[in-house]
Amino acid sequence: MFSYLSEPGTDGIGLAFTDRLGGFSTGQFTSFNLGHTDEDSVDALRANMAMLRDRLGLGPVSVVKQVHGRVVIPLGGTGSHSLDSDSWLSDAVPGVPALVHADAQVTTLTDTPLAVRVADCVPVLLADRAQGVLGSAHAGRVGLLAGVLQETVAAMRLRGARRLEAWIGPHICGRCYEVPAQMQAQACAVLPELRCTTSWGTPSLDLGSGAQGVLERDGVTVHRLDPCTRTGQAFFSHRGDHGRTGNQIGLIWRVARHVGRA
Ligand SMILES: [Zn+2]
Repeated sequence: MFSYLSEPGTDGIGLAFTDRLGGFSTGQFTSFNLGHTDEDSVDALRANMAMLRDRLGLGPVSVVKQVHGRVVIPLGGTGSHSLDSDSWLSDAVPGVPALVHADAQVTTLTDTPLAVRVADCVPVLLADRAQGVLGSAHAGRVGLLAGVLQETVAAMRLRGARRLEAWIGPHICGRCYEVPAQMQAQACAVLPELRCTTSWGTPSLDLGSGAQGVLERDGVTVHRLDPCTRTGQAFFSHRGDHGRTGNQIGLIWRVARHVGRA
């Protein structure tokens, strides 16, 4: 169910990265799928999300329609959207409002869990623990190069964040993420930390190191919690599963009983 879990402490902030184990989905979505809502069984998806929320004691989770861009959605001010249990199933359930197109979310609200859905791309969770500012970002190759992490950090600082931490979750590693040589050259011209070589000796990109480089240059303390999704049997992997697969998520939240500020 989890590849990493840190339950709320005195600051009220919890964070988790899920894996693909222990859920209700079948076939290529086996079994703890929290994405690809237009293909998997709605009953299985609802059961998976209900199990996650029960385990963590959470209300409805906020997701966005991820489009490999750099748009950040703030929740709780202009542009906030109301959540219910089926909001995240917008692609699969008639009558549910369409999800906002974006690749990052930020909030200062309590009881508003932010989720990022991935299956090889990099899930990044961020927080200023003292100020109670949270963020989540979907950082694949395209979003990383477009500046999604810089935009997320800026949006959090605008809402009072000062000392930021980030947690980089499970994604495809540099030894597995093969790309054409020209693509590698173009990407590394923007972000040198991306340069890597596959375990079979061809050009590749190390997205985790790229994300870490961007965040550290922005003054963020980075924690790496990132086993490889392609070689790890516990994870959904777009490449490892040949394009049809589910999603694990990164999730960050703050509970209301710890609302005090430093
Ligand atoms: Zn790997």
